[in-house]
Amino acid sequence: MTSFPPGILYLPLSKAYRGRIEVDERCIGCDACARGCPLGVISSGYEDLFKVIRFHLAGCTFCTRCAQICPTHAITVVQEEFGEGMTHEQGELIVRLPAVRCIRCSRPFLSEAMLEQMKRDLATKLPMEEEVFSYLYTCPQCKRWREGVRMALSLP
Ligand code: SF4
Ligand code: SF4
Repeated sequence: MTSFPPGILYLPLSKAYRGRIEVDERCIGCDACARGCPLGVISSGYEDLFKVIRFHLAGCTFCTRCAQICPTHAITVVQEEFGEGMTHEQGELIVRLPAVRCIRCSRPFLSEAMLEQMKRDLATKLPMEEEVFSYLYTCPQCKRWREGVRMALSLP
């Protein structure tokens, strides 16, 4: 009999099961799949210095929306039955990507791969000067704080 870790609920496979999901090395940890999954079965967060994307496949209907919206085409829905003997313990797909720390608060806030992609995109439009780097390596909360300070200092 299968023993599940305490505190984790494994749901029965959906009747709409149409395959299984694979994510390859093209994943940059952009979160588009997590935001776009209609069932909310993809979660995203930080564990130590890693960006972690989890696909909770037991609740997935394999609608393929995540594969359609992934900007790097890293997701494939494979038309294949769960193999004999596979269990819901194997029903979680985890992607771990090295993350970048904010230069102000040290919290991890972005995957390295995503930051490199942003740098490549920006390099075609902006000179990569120190201020641009400083902005890129600052987390959203610290950017808001910095903007708040700037606004307060500009008040008459
Ligand atoms: S699988 Fe695609 S959409 Fe999801 S985080 Fe990775 S790159 Fe983004
Ligand atoms: S196939 Fe559909 S339900 Fe499953 S993880 Fe992707 S978007 Fe969510």
